[in-house]
Amino acid sequence: MEAKQPRIGVLAIQGDYAAHAEALTQCGAVPVEARKREELDGLDGLILPGGESTTILKFLERGHLFDDLKHFCLTRPVFGTCAGAILLAREVRNPAQRSLGALDVVVERNAYGRQIDSSILFSESKLPGEKLEMVFIRAPRIVETGPEVEVLARRDGMATLVRQGKLMAATFHPELTADHRVHQAFVDLVQANRNS
Ligand code: GLN
Repeated sequence: MEAKQPRIGVLAIQGDYAAHAEALTQCGAVPVEARKREELDGLDGLILPGGESTTILKFLERGHLFDDLKHFCLTRPVFGTCAGAILLAREVRNPAQRSLGALDVVVERNAYGRQIDSSILFSESKLPGEKLEMVFIRAPRIVETGPEVEVLARRDGMATLVRQGKLMAATFHPELTADHRVHQAFVDLVQANRNS
């Protein structure tokens, strides 16, 4: 039923937000492009896509969106992928940079070096079904997770997909694969939060 579909924003500054929107649609949500603070109003959740976290950060600061987004992260479900995960983190290294500080993880940017900066891996995960395909593009690495953080998938023992309360983060790009289980997990989280 139309009225029950959650409206999920996709921060549409940079990166492949159109692919996120498509994945959300396939998972039964209504995607909404968000660029301004007013556009956050009335959303049931939000995706922060990949891109270049420094660029996205500048845009947030110039558009006076940083504080509103921080508040949004404290009150509603947010899913950060790659650069979006960097923005959500409690602490960013390599180099240090400002972040929303909502998710209790420490991330290291561009952590896989030049040679293997982009790669595709299949790994076991806590999501139902087969191994999860993970596309890494100049990916960060989650080097520390706080006690409330649940690790849903890993690469070489390090967390690549995490959940903490209403927040999710992936160091890879789930929007670039045909498998929408990661987006479905987020849409389910948004629905659960709406019903609670
Ligand atoms: N390397 C980017 C950063 O540090 C993240 C890359 C991505 O989002 N694919 O912000």
